[in-house]
Amino acid sequence: MPTYRVGTEPLQIRKSFREVLCEQCGKSMGKIHVDRIPKQLEGLSARDVLKFYPFIRVDIGVHEKVCPALKKEGGPPAG
Ligand SMILES: [Zn+2]
Repeated sequence: MPTYRVGTEPLQIRKSFREVLCEQCGKSMGKIHVDRIPKQLEGLSARDVLKFYPFIRVDIGVHEKVCPALKKEGGPPAG
């Protein structure tokens, strides 16, 4: 399963949104308002992300299926 992180760019005036990104492929899942930032900003599972940001459920759900990183894990076990 892919993991996600919340953008850690420093907050600026008038910039109160951060991006949620897939850690495996870097794709953006959308922007979230900084009112609700999890303590842990990296290595979040889809479930963790959705606890904070249920409104990106669709984006996450789709990405869980199409993330290019998943294909690498699906191969035969090595050695
Ligand atoms: Zn991904």
